[in-house]
Amino acid sequence: MKQLTRRSFNGLAGKGLLGSALIANMPLANALSTNKKDKKLGIALVGLGSYSTYQLAPSLQETAHCYLAGIVTGTNSKEAIWQEKYNIPKKNVYNYDNFDTIADNDSIDIIYVVLPNSMHADFCIRAAKAGKHVICEKPMAISVAECDTIINACNENSVKLAVGYRMQSDPYTNEVKKYVREKTFGDVKFVSSDAGYISKGNPDQWRLDKSLSGGGALMNMGVYSIQTSIYGTRQNPIAVSAQEFSTRPEYFKDTDETITAQFKFANGAVAHMMTSHNANGNRLKCHCSKGWFELDPAHSYGPISGTTSNGDILKFPHKKQQALQMDDFAEHILMGTKNVAPGEMGKRDMIIVEAIYKSIDEGGKEQLLSLGNMGIVS
Ligand code: NAD
Repeated sequence: MKQLTRRSFNGLAGKGLLGSALIANMPLANALSTNKKDKKLGIALVGLGSYSTYQLAPSLQETAHCYLAGIVTGTNSKEAIWQEKYNIPKKNVYNYDNFDTIADNDSIDIIYVVLPNSMHADFCIRAAKAGKHVICEKPMAISVAECDTIINACNENSVKLAVGYRMQSDPYTNEVKKYVREKTFGDVKFVSSDAGYISKGNPDQWRLDKSLSGGGALMNMGVYSIQTSIYGTRQNPIAVSAQEFSTRPEYFKDTDETITAQFKFANGAVAHMMTSHNANGNRLKCHCSKGWFELDPAHSYGPISGTTSNGDILKFPHKKQQALQMDDFAEHILMGTKNVAPGEMGKRDMIIVEAIYKSIDEGGKEQLLSLGNMGIVS
């Protein structure tokens, strides 16, 4: 019997060929289905900055279907530290120059790109070309055109793609999505969503450099407000108008400080979002025809907190969102479960980001959006 390596298994699954292989060869099918449940996919983190160091690597110690198998870093001194801390073999350590040779490494199934935003597309495309599944941090890229290049590269190389939208795996978020879907509080009429923090310190950080970040608060935190506005209504907006506010131009020389935007939805619902690098905000409130529900905080690392007009206080066991997120993607690859944060969702959000910037450029003029159900995952 032909032995399937991890690479060929992923390739066949991606190309939809596994089905026929399984039907034609039942002993192989049995072996694979047992393997799939027990299997752990190897993840390589690209970029060992604060998010990888303090969130993703610790979360990978709690995952059921994947584990930290490798690292890709541009900082030589981090190699030995990470190798020792996480027991990573030398053969699974890469730098930005030799990264493409990761194609020959069967221990790496998924490449997770955790670099400044303008570097996402390049590394996601190289990961896809290496035949690896891809997780791309948010925001997916710095333009819609770049999102397309990532999606195309993943399709062409038959690998799966997810955006690092950890909230899509969070139980509080999923409870709220259930309220909207089941109309627990009637129809959602108005959504208010805030996502911001006060940025201080190093004025040379990449988040304040448009060439690396693609934009300011909107790119960094605004995607959370866009996401909550959408899962707070279970629809994509049909139009958006936006405004920008600047109070510290000497610090925010290159990037947006505070942005507000209003969304219209086809059923008459309305949403207002605020995102800022100069004000704290971390909230989603949905006003409905028969009550309301709220998450506050709505998108920090948790635990999230939620209340409703029925007097309910939401309480779920706390598990690292990033562990849930990476397990969701591994299960999607291994068992064909739904992809809760597909590339189309990241691209949809970037279409909205570009429409918001365009509205601001045009003095707040309403921008029409034709998104259909793009990126809506129920
Ligand atoms: P960071 O500044 O802490 O780390 C950035 C990493 O990229 C560092 O390892 C740095 O060495 C490397 N790098 C390579 N080239 C660089 C360059 N030219 N300039 C600056 N750094 C360079 O950033 P971070 O907070 O880890 O964010 C990385 C990505 O993760 C971003 O896309 C960010 O939006 C995303 N992120 C997501 C979440 C989330 O909750 N999903 C949270 C934080 C960050």
